[in-house]
Amino acid sequence: MSEPELKSKDVDQSVGVSGEPIVRYENVYKSFGDVEVLKGINLDIMPSEKVAVIGPSGSGKTTIIRMLMTLEQPTSGSIIVDGDNLWHMEKNGELVPANEKHLREVRGNIGMVFQHFNLFPHMTILENCMTAPIHVQKEDKQEAKNRSIEMLEKVGLGDKLDNYPNQLSGGQKQRVAMARALVMRPKIMLFDEVTSALDPELVGEVLEVIRDIAKEGEMAMVLVTHEMEFALDIADRVLFLDNGVIAEEGPPSEVIENPTNERLQTFLHRFR
Ligand code: ADP
Repeated sequence: MSEPELKSKDVDQSVGVSGEPIVRYENVYKSFGDVEVLKGINLDIMPSEKVAVIGPSGSGKTTIIRMLMTLEQPTSGSIIVDGDNLWHMEKNGELVPANEKHLREVRGNIGMVFQHFNLFPHMTILENCMTAPIHVQKEDKQEAKNRSIEMLEKVGLGDKLDNYPNQLSGGQKQRVAMARALVMRPKIMLFDEVTSALDPELVGEVLEVIRDIAKEGEMAMVLVTHEMEFALDIADRVLFLDNGVIAEEGPPSEVIENPTNERLQTFLHRFR
């Protein structure tokens, strides 16, 4: 299958951000065994757009962003990042990953922050941040160190450079995870329920850092979140995922404040 051309006329301009999408999902399906988790996802994300993904547990939110990070492969459909299709279709109709070098390049443009931090426990937080620029991007060690310090200062941890992850609170660990992703200068940042493993009193400091990153504006951000106030505050667009389809999407003032979809109304009721 040839790659679809990305033309500006195809792009949904309704969200008020114009230009070429940095991410495009085209008719994406995903099954795990017999269970069809995503059932035809079509989605364009613009280069500086902030997209919040909400929906019930098990609706496929994490799977959507894991596929963008190439951690899961779609069963069918295309995912195009910055003009590159992540998967190729073989003659027999099977989707296979684009070559490893290509995937590495694509992954280099994407930073992901997980629910459970995923820091390297045997490295200091500075080393945690420096390791990918040096070993993946083959960057000069001193430059990687300088930028890592800059990013750790940005997330408020400039005084903890030599600490190990187990010496930090959950909120601090999550801020390290963000600095570590930012050091790679990604074009897209993915946040997968990054506050749901935290004690309630630590949630605020993490959201604050995300807010700051969002305000800087440049990057596209996709946030799977249960923090409705937060989504309302920072998202340009909210997607409500339900049973593997995007059941409603639009600006947060519509989707969160004036939902028309009944299942969305029921879902949101839990957060009141
Ligand atoms: P959400 O993030 O909305 O809670 P997920 O994307 O994590 O949903 O999961 C959607 C569905 O896919 C769930 O039913 C989950 O159990 C299933 N699933 C996710 N990952 C796997 C996997 N690696 N193997 C089998 N089933 C999976």
